[in-house]
Amino acid sequence: MASDDCLICRGEQEIVIGIRERGPYERMHDYTRVLFCAACDVGELRAFSYDDYVVYGEEDDVMVWSSLLSAADISRLRTGFACATPLDHGCACAQHVRAYNTSVGANKTKLPEYGPDRHSPAGRTTVTVQVIDGLVEFSSARPCS
Ligand SMILES: [Zn+2]
Ligand SMILES: [Zn+2]
Repeated sequence: MASDDCLICRGEQEIVIGIRERGPYERMHDYTRVLFCAACDVGELRAFSYDDYVVYGEEDDVMVWSSLLSAADISRLRTGFACATPLDHGCACAQHVRAYNTSVGANKTKLPEYGPDRHSPAGRTTVTVQVIDGLVEFSSARPCS
C-alpha cells in the first residue's frame, strides 16, 4: 500500500533519510522519510500515514503529505546529517529527533487520495534544509500562509 515512487515520473526513488517509522502493523503504519528521484533530480520530504482505526467516512485511512526538496538540499542532507545510520527509522539520536521534530513543523502538502489529481505533485510546498548547531533541520521555504 505504501509507495515511495516519484510523484512526477512515477519512477522508483532512493530513500535518503529514514526519519521515523511506526509499523508496519496490521492496522497501522506511518513514516516520515526523505526520498530522491535521480531521473527528475529532485527530492521529497514525505510523511505517510495508514490508520485503519479511523471511523469510516470521517477521514481517509491513508494520508500522504509531501514537500519538495531541491537537489542541492538533498546534497546538504547527505553530507550534513549527523548520524551514522541515516536509513534507520528507529534511531533516536539527537539528529534523528531534530529531523523529525522539524519535519513535523515544516510546511507539507496533503496529497489528494482520490480523483484525477490523486497523488498529483501540483502545487506542492517546498522545504529547505539547514544545519543549526551541527544538526540538520527542515524548515519551510516560505512562511506558512
Ligand atoms: Zn521522478
Ligand atoms: Zn540517528
